[in-house]
Amino acid sequence: MKKICVVGTGYVGLVTAAGLADFGNSVIGVDIDESKIDILKKGGIPIYEPGLIEVVQRNVQAGRLSFTTDIDTAIKKSKVIFSAVGTPPGEGGEADLRAVWTVAASFAKNLNEYKVFINKSTVPVGTGKKTKALIEKYCPQGSSYDVVSNPEFLREGSAVGDFLNPDRVVVGSRSKRAQDIMKDVYHALIIRGVPYVETNIESAEVIKYASNAFLAVKITFINEIANLCDIVGADVNEVAKAMGMDGRISPKFLHAGPGYGGSCFPKDTMALVEIFKEHGVQTRLVEAAIEANELQKQGVVAKLKSVMPDLKNKTIAILGLAFKPNTDDTRFSPSKVVIPLLHAEGARVQVFDPVASDDFRRDFPDLDYKKNVYDAIEGANALILMTEWNEFRSLDLKRVKSLLRSPVFIDTRNIYDPRDMKEKGFTFVCTGRSKCFE
Ligand code: NAD
Repeated sequence: MKKICVVGTGYVGLVTAAGLADFGNSVIGVDIDESKIDILKKGGIPIYEPGLIEVVQRNVQAGRLSFTTDIDTAIKKSKVIFSAVGTPPGEGGEADLRAVWTVAASFAKNLNEYKVFINKSTVPVGTGKKTKALIEKYCPQGSSYDVVSNPEFLREGSAVGDFLNPDRVVVGSRSKRAQDIMKDVYHALIIRGVPYVETNIESAEVIKYASNAFLAVKITFINEIANLCDIVGADVNEVAKAMGMDGRISPKFLHAGPGYGGSCFPKDTMALVEIFKEHGVQTRLVEAAIEANELQKQGVVAKLKSVMPDLKNKTIAILGLAFKPNTDDTRFSPSKVVIPLLHAEGARVQVFDPVASDDFRRDFPDLDYKKNVYDAIEGANALILMTEWNEFRSLDLKRVKSLLRSPVFIDTRNIYDPRDMKEKGFTFVCTGRSKCFE
């Protein structure tokens, strides 16, 4: 059993803290946000993540998991310190590492015995070296420690399962002492046969950005193919299915839609472009994906205008504010691009999301937030389905049609069948399948 401190109790930190406690470790979760720690101390969780509250409560009750805002004491008491703080985009798109440096400085100050500092946040290559230099500057003379990179690959919405059953664990460090400790921390996974990738810090840092950028490019690629399918009468679902049967391609991340969003792909692709620039290496591909993805988001409004050219004084229902289902996270959500464009066209917007309205409200306080999906649709001239929440997959289409002023249905996620929708009398536009049954 290792004594662990996880700094940052957001989507990654809280799942990491709870997951590591579930592996039998003794874990203290730390955050500077007192309101989050208050909620956690009272037995709740500050985010929406399916299955997480059960793991948190189970481990709190077993005495393996606790929460505090007192980072100094938490570090002093722990052998292994995970930093899982946010690394949001800075003004130029580069990763803002201020929170990481703050945690590293606290680590240095509280080095009362050998400890391991682990960067779990997504950080640019070279951060491990800079972290070491910073710790060296602030730690008591003669302190003994190691710095490790252990990037996280979980997905919001299925974070608990991803953490407890990952495809791989990547640990960057050439220190045998640190690697032995990390193998102990992840023992529960290693004995189950989860691949443990031992590498150096720089490789681990690159692996994370390369993985996210690759997936962002893959999504963007199928989105562009979908745009072509829309014009030529092909069906992107059938195209993607047949493509995915090729083992070299794989069927995952080939779902056409309104463009990727979320707290990772947009910021990590932007940061990767800055990393390439910093090191004088050319990247056309990642830059092109960022640009194409932005156009894809804007293209949702173009889809609507293709069947409703004048949006002035029209009411548009937006179904879905989260960047994907099963999360309340709306960072870089496609709805954040679509709604201002609708406003710019003179349209009114009424919105519904099963859990993400509060998060969305921070950036869009004045929208007409409805209490349920049918309230959002009622009286609208058109609806745009933006997020594939389960409850949007089985709408009562008769009721939808009767509530809409005109039966215009834009399905950015390809949930509904174009032939069926046309038979039901909808003016229906989807993504890469709009003309395939004509
Ligand atoms: P988040 O914003 O949800 O959580 C970050 C937390 O850190 C917040 O609770 C914040 O209050 C806390 N914090 C900030 N500064 C602090 C400090 N000095 N001391 C203590 N706490 C502090 O972010 P997240 O989505 O959990 O992402 C964290 C990191 O993990 C990022 O680098 C992100 O790129 C990476 N990541 C995220 C995901 C994901 O799906 N969200 C997946 C893999 C990797």
